[in-house]
Amino acid sequence: YDDRDGKIWMDGQLVDWRAANVHILTHAMHYASSVFEGERCYSGKIFKSLEHSERLIKSGQLIDFQIPFTVDEIEAAKIAALEANGLTDAYVRAVAWRGAGEDMGVASARNPVHLAVACWEWGNYYGDAKMKGAKLDIAKWKRPSPETAPSQAKAAGLYMIATMSKHAAEAKGCSDAMMFDYRGYVAEATGANIFFVKDGEVHTPKADAFLNGLTRQTVIGMLEKHQVKVHERVIMPDELESFEQCWLTGTAAEVTPVGQIGDYNFEVGTMTRDISEEYEKLVRT
Ligand code: PMP
Repeated sequence: YDDRDGKIWMDGQLVDWRAANVHILTHAMHYASSVFEGERCYSGKIFKSLEHSERLIKSGQLIDFQIPFTVDEIEAAKIAALEANGLTDAYVRAVAWRGAGEDMGVASARNPVHLAVACWEWGNYYGDAKMKGAKLDIAKWKRPSPETAPSQAKAAGLYMIATMSKHAAEAKGCSDAMMFDYRGYVAEATGANIFFVKDGEVHTPKADAFLNGLTRQTVIGMLEKHQVKVHERVIMPDELESFEQCWLTGTAAEVTPVGQIGDYNFEVGTMTRDISEEYEKLVRT
């Protein structure tokens, strides 16, 4: 992704894509002092743009830094990046990080915090899984306790185990991995939340050890509007067998049907398809 034409917004300037670099002694690179957002722009409008900007600032605060830009400035930066690249339908990546500076140790309060926004065209995150259902591995890594890491922060440090889990899944021919949390409860995928259907009702893990995604909240709202009962609760691994349908939610994933998790199979059923289609409509209104 580094060698292409285009512009990236960095600390208030639009810079050439290939020149959007950081120094090797950037604190974030050594100690994961970085937070980010994944957003999608549909027909010129970023879905839940404000909520994403607010979450970015909150994520920074949760890992102990203040992004030196306001919500309004972040909103303007995203628009500027989209316009500079002539994009109306795109993925938008905002990232904030502790830079290089006075300190090179773990403590880095004197190093400046930076912000960048890049955007590019990004189709279906799970390829053709949208039609036939994604195949998921079961990760050996567990989502950490909220006492180990701030699970509501979209912080780079939390993605180390996600990348390892997804690599292991891909090596087995799967598109992603489902992760358990530190207690052994069903949690989420590596970059998306998870839902199950049984007897016309929906079950999804309580978001107490992983990111409560904006798409997750949107989909719960859609289901409740249709008077579908949504149980946000503890889901044990041995329950997987009893669920009929399963889907993932996330900005990149949107609503992606799941066909298989480990040895368990799910049908891409009516509710999965309806919710997926309704979400696609909603983001374009
Ligand atoms: N969990 C993780 C770990 C994620 O990376 C994402 C994607 N941001 C989500 C859940 C879904 O969040 P959202 O719906 O806000 O994109």
